[in-house]
Amino acid sequence: MNKIQLTIILSLIFFFMGTSISNAAVNAHITYTVTFPEAQAHYADIELNISELDQPTLDLKMPVWTPGSYLVREFTRNIETISAAANGKELYLQKVRKNIWHLNTAGLSTIIIKYRVYAFEISVRTSFIDDSHAFLSSPDMFIYPANMLHSPSTIHIIPYKGWTTVSSSLEKVNGDTFTRYSPDYDILFDSPIEIGTQDVFGFTASGVNYEVAMVGGGKYDKERLKKDLPKIVEEETAIFGENPNKHYTFIVHNALKGGGGLEHLSSTTLGASRDAYATEAGYQNFLALAAHEHFHLWNVKRLRPIALGPFDYDNENYTTNLWIAEGFTAYYQDIIVRRTQLYSPENYLGSLAENINQQENLPGTRVQALSESSFDAWIKAYRPNENSANSTISYYTKGALVGMFMDLEIINDTKGKNSLDDVMKYMYNEYYKVKKRGYTDAEFKQAVEKFAGKNLDDFYAKYINGLTPMDYDGYLSYAGYKLTNALAANNDPALGITTVAGISKIIVSSVVRGGSAWVSGINVNDEVTAIDGAALTTTTGVLAGKKPGDKILVTVIRDGLTLNIPVTLLKNNRVKYKIEELPNVTSEQLVVRKKWLSIK
Ligand SMILES: [Zn+2]
Repeated sequence: MNKIQLTIILSLIFFFMGTSISNAAVNAHITYTVTFPEAQAHYADIELNISELDQPTLDLKMPVWTPGSYLVREFTRNIETISAAANGKELYLQKVRKNIWHLNTAGLSTIIIKYRVYAFEISVRTSFIDDSHAFLSSPDMFIYPANMLHSPSTIHIIPYKGWTTVSSSLEKVNGDTFTRYSPDYDILFDSPIEIGTQDVFGFTASGVNYEVAMVGGGKYDKERLKKDLPKIVEEETAIFGENPNKHYTFIVHNALKGGGGLEHLSSTTLGASRDAYATEAGYQNFLALAAHEHFHLWNVKRLRPIALGPFDYDNENYTTNLWIAEGFTAYYQDIIVRRTQLYSPENYLGSLAENINQQENLPGTRVQALSESSFDAWIKAYRPNENSANSTISYYTKGALVGMFMDLEIINDTKGKNSLDDVMKYMYNEYYKVKKRGYTDAEFKQAVEKFAGKNLDDFYAKYINGLTPMDYDGYLSYAGYKLTNALAANNDPALGITTVAGISKIIVSSVVRGGSAWVSGINVNDEVTAIDGAALTTTTGVLAGKKPGDKILVTVIRDGLTLNIPVTLLKNNRVKYKIEELPNVTSEQLVVRKKWLSIK
């Protein structure tokens, strides 16, 4: 398709759309043409054409963050050149803020903006281009007219040599895969675009057409995925009662090492290791990741905290509810894989015990409350430093554990009639479908109380807004389980440091709050060279035969100076929990267990 044909098609589209749009500004026609003349050097050249313009001035913007990833990333730092022109003449484009350009457009009906973007950050939330493929994470690619967030746009992609395939949830224009249509900018910024030679396969589940785009190779078994992914889709759809998409795209980036994902309304981008699929545990992890990101199409993309949409693309969007948006999604990812029977109850309980260990071995759990970890995600969770483990928690891990507590509370209080599923379905209907807005903290709490049949003030004070130790045994006992700590009898001392991996020197990378090193003043970045005068090549086994209370002399090099630091050894307080069956499980406990773990 050439540009003239494209214009005709676009004119028709906008003609049919025009009737429902009243604001003059949104009648402008917006087209992007994306080319990759130097893909090998990681550049995209983008031409933004705005026609039918009728306003004296125009601000052009780029988001500073990507929804779902709560960090201001200052995307315009990757824009190398930008210029504006109209009627064949260059216009003065004034940069007025880090992410805003100002333009006088009096009397102009068509303007053309050309800009060049550098994209070389491999992640699910940033764009990446090389000569093998391009992953366009839209918020860091598409400059937009500031007053036209609700306007449709068309993206015309001119692929680099050899690229044959486009994968995106954006609709094709006239069946052309290289021309995509976005009804507004919230949709465009929520629709990544993968272009290259990816391996694409599909399946149908819950009446929705699914496309899986495998990028970068990998040892995946397509037939097995086509059997297992639909089970996940169907179990998740059953919770909410409907699957609101017509089609959905999984973009999977397979690499030497990979992980993580980013949720979107009708698609997701997943990171995986090419080898992950080769082992059963790796395959299950991949399914759990897919279950997590897919669950988000309801939880956070549609059912959402009130602060998370409509988005402010210029600033941080603060919410205390990421423990619901992310933590509950993390809880459900494993519960869903269990429901598909791809996890046994033992697999599930093993994974749960690992989450508990992660939470309890984090000193930050006694410092930062769950709601606070969500609010400060922008400055803490996404900006970790050497002291993060001592001062912060993960709203994923603790949020998932709180989700489990709430689920067990509701199942137990209603004798197996209701569960957290009912809360999620109710909230989806009530806020996304009926009220068409996000929920407040109080509204979510009221919904849980409604299904639990009890007041949760105390629960929130302890676990959401406070630092009360988690009562695992209390909640697990509803289902006839308890925790046992395999290290309970352990009386070994620990130095309480972690060291930089993969180098021959022993460099301290973190110091555990309250541990031997912390108390005696060993610092991050210290090079540990000897203990009691004996030179070290490893820290493994150096405390063999020692006990808490023993004194040692640790030699370190700090800023070029050698220091001898006396250390009194303290007990290693790490825990290693397992979940075990209580003796004499009652029929009431069995009812809760069967409902919780979907045991038939
Ligand atoms: Zn998530």
